[in-house]
Amino acid sequence: MNELLLSARNLTKRFGGLAAVNDVSVDLHRDRIHAVIGPNGAGKSTLTNLLSGDLPPSSGRITLNGNETAGKSPERISRMGLGRSYQKTNIFLPFTVWDNVRLAAQSRERHGPWNPLRWLSSASAMTAVNRRCERAIELAGLKARTHTVAGTTSHGEQRQLEIAMTLATEPTVLLLDEPLAGMGHAEAERMVELLLRIKKDHAMMLVEHDMDAVFTLADRLTVMVNGQVIASGTPAEVRSDAGVQAAYLGE
Ligand code: ADP
Ligand code: MG
Repeated sequence: MNELLLSARNLTKRFGGLAAVNDVSVDLHRDRIHAVIGPNGAGKSTLTNLLSGDLPPSSGRITLNGNETAGKSPERISRMGLGRSYQKTNIFLPFTVWDNVRLAAQSRERHGPWNPLRWLSSASAMTAVNRRCERAIELAGLKARTHTVAGTTSHGEQRQLEIAMTLATEPTVLLLDEPLAGMGHAEAERMVELLLRIKKDHAMMLVEHDMDAVFTLADRLTVMVNGQVIASGTPAEVRSDAGVQAAYLGE
């Protein structure tokens, strides 16, 4: 229970003279949501990019499911069990929900680039992938939209689709960068329910500005300002931290 799936130690990322992420450590546990909050420019997206391997750290170590990720490509890290959503969407709008999820699932296959001949020759592999896609779509609350063209679905549904595409790669660790961005109240509520549903069996890092959602969802909370962690703990501990209130919550 609550097994440690991702551990990042003393991560620093410098862009020239700027330490966008400065000596940050994060632990992500199964069945727990770890929220990261902070003002724009705090380094939240850079931290996400370090964990996913999209950016190499200037220093620090990351261990995913017991293995160090240093020097590995994002694709390799994805196959090691890390799934992420991007703030900028990866959805192919002319394709259906199903086809988008199916393409995402194929990207996870372990044997190098997708080979259509090998793919077609393996009916049981196909069945397994199809089942994985159905499950991801259902978990993301999009079953009724399975055969709808992605570009004709609502903004909220497209964000749900991004989650389904991430789930289809069967990650153990999920990194979600502002999944509620641009959502109205009803859409945000639906996304919060979705995140609670997928919390089980996953370790999740949630970067999010919506404080209602953060305090509803988070088991642990890290507050970043100017690349540094200014507070970390349970939501109750962080909420009562005077420094956090002054620097960020503004209450
Ligand atoms: P957040 O997601 O918390 O808003 P970011 O991680 O996007 O913050 O950015 C943190 C800081 O790093 C900002 O000052 C930003 O301008 C800078 N930054 C981010 N990416 C790069 C980059 N590729 N090159 C140079 N500076 C960057
Ligand atoms: Mg960001």
